[in-house]
Amino acid sequence: MNDIILLKQGEIVLKGLNRREFENKLIENVKRRLKPFGTFKVYSIQSTVYVEPLSDCDMDAALEAMSRVFGALSVTRAAACEKDKDAIVKTAAEYLSAEINAAKSFKVESKRSDKRFPMNSIELSQYTGGQLHDLIPHLKPDMHDPELTIHVEIRDLAAYVHGPALPGAGGLPVGTGGRMVTLLSGGIDSPVASHMIAKRGIALIPIHFYSHPYTSVMAKDKVLKLAELLTAYCGRMNVVLVPFTKISEQIRENCTEGLITVIMRRFMLRIAERIASDNRCSAIVTGDNLGQVASQTAEALAVVEESVSMPVFRPLIAFDKNEIVNIAYKIGTYETSILPYEDCCTVFTPKRPKTKPKLDEVLEAEAKLDVEALIDEAMKGIL
Ligand code: ATP
Ligand code: MG
Repeated sequence: MNDIILLKQGEIVLKGLNRREFENKLIENVKRRLKPFGTFKVYSIQSTVYVEPLSDCDMDAALEAMSRVFGALSVTRAAACEKDKDAIVKTAAEYLSAEINAAKSFKVESKRSDKRFPMNSIELSQYTGGQLHDLIPHLKPDMHDPELTIHVEIRDLAAYVHGPALPGAGGLPVGTGGRMVTLLSGGIDSPVASHMIAKRGIALIPIHFYSHPYTSVMAKDKVLKLAELLTAYCGRMNVVLVPFTKISEQIRENCTEGLITVIMRRFMLRIAERIASDNRCSAIVTGDNLGQVASQTAEALAVVEESVSMPVFRPLIAFDKNEIVNIAYKIGTYETSILPYEDCCTVFTPKRPKTKPKLDEVLEAEAKLDVEALIDEAMKGIL
């Protein structure tokens, strides 16, 4: 049987003249993700990417990987056969035998993009449905609420038969929107924020600030693990690990206690901006969420953002925690995010943080530090 995976393109189909560029990127990303599962031929025709196995491939794993590639609206494993009505019936009965045995009712839905095929789609559905009902009498036709819908597609190269499609990851192919840095802290929020931005076609460079010995090696490993989990969607990423102990200590020793977190965030953004410029990135992404903690009031976010001139994107700004948690579950980062290792910010969090910090007082506090020298030193210590 000619087993194949079909990815239906999502938003790409709305693109105009540059559509080919998006399609090529999608194909490139698909090929890269398929590498561990065998040798495949990948090509795109009529808004669909075809993934054909050329060797003994792990098709289950390949299908799962394809459901995480941004740019596809749906993902389907299908059987290819000759464009002949009886070959289609035979293929449907064999390829979907497990689904057919489990279902009591069914219908056939056909799509004919090759108009040279002698039946129209209604005739083909009726023919295939009738023949299958004769072959498998327990399977009752039901046009309104069938347990199983069998799809038949007549395309350029062949006919394809498949059951229900899986939802694809949506969005745009990673890399089509350029590059950004993302601040990855090890909590629940920042992996979700990273995922959302990558979904818009952005390649990400994650940055993590660590504070040995206040934070453990395990905290750092947790962030590396989160980045690894995200690669299923975002593609390969190299995490930039920035030593943050000295900066945190200097802030704690010299600045008003209530402003510590806000000033730490300003340092993080400044360093992120440097890394972003060095790597031709266009913006900084964070997992900030309005009102979640003292450093995430509108006033605090404004003071933090003042430290850089690059745009700061906060995709989670208006989400409820449970909405964020639901996405974290879905993308598989939740279990790792809730592991108990401390983040550097938790260690240095003041007892009474200011929820409405003023820029003047923050600048005054920062004037006690050699900001540039601290940043240079941190940049030199990057792993
Ligand atoms: P998260 O769940 O992502 O940790 P949070 O709700 O705990 O977020 P904060 O700890 O206030 O929020 O951090 C806000 C954002 O700042 C994070 O989402 C992340 O983008 C960034 N951030 C915080 N700490 C770090 C860190 N140690 N390294 C990198 N980024 C960080
Ligand atoms: Mg955090």
